[in-house]
Parts: sequence; C-alpha cells; structure tokens
Amino acid sequence: MIRDFFLGFIKIHILFHATEAPVYGLEMIRELETHGYRLSPGTLYPILHKLEKRGYLQTERRIVNGKIRKYYAATALGRSALVEAYEKARELLGEIGPGAEGISQQEGPPGKVKTK
Ligand SMILES: [Zn+2]
Repeated sequence: MIRDFFLGFIKIHILFHATEAPVYGLEMIRELETHGYRLSPGTLYPILHKLEKRGYLQTERRIVNGKIRKYYAATALGRSALVEAYEKARELLGEIGPGAEGISQQEGPPGKVKTK
C-alpha cells in the first residue's frame, strides 16, 4: 500500500523534472536516488510510457555516443497536470502539516492496540 503512495509522488516528481529539461530514464533513476527512492528500470520505464501515452510527456530521440537515447519532456498538458497535482497534494498534505512527526507517537483507536 505505501508503495502506491510513493509511486504517485514519484510520477509527479518525474513530471516536474520533465518541465525543467528533457530527461532520460537512467538520469531519472539516479535523480530519484538522491531523494531516497531506488527504482528499477522495470518500474520506471512503464511510468514514463504511461505518462507519454496520456499525453503528459513527449519523446525526442537523440544520438548520444553513437546510441539512440529517448528523452522525455513535459507537454502543455503535462505542465497543467503537474500544477493541478501539486495543488491537490498541497491541499490534502498541508492539513497534516508541521505536526506530522508527532502522529506516530499518538495512540491509535482502541481496536488497533495490540495486547499481550
Ligand atoms: Zn528531484
């Protein structure tokens, strides 16, 4: 389940980087690693392909060191989707707010408490 949350954030983050400059797969894998996410190509490429299929990204093939490399850049639709996703995330996550760290210290509902 928590993976579903992360994949949503990751999609938004990829879209963000693709608005700044065209990105390629391995570059995004390395970039996400700097944020603490280790994605395999088997996870990342289907995300890129889906974003492309939905019209959020467009591809451009460039030859780098004699090999074809596929770059992904955000489309106008991708840019507006990014803004919308960011606003929606801010609305929902903003309510959790600065006190988020304390939540794990709180007691859960009685039914969830484990007793010996
Ligand atoms: Zn980043």
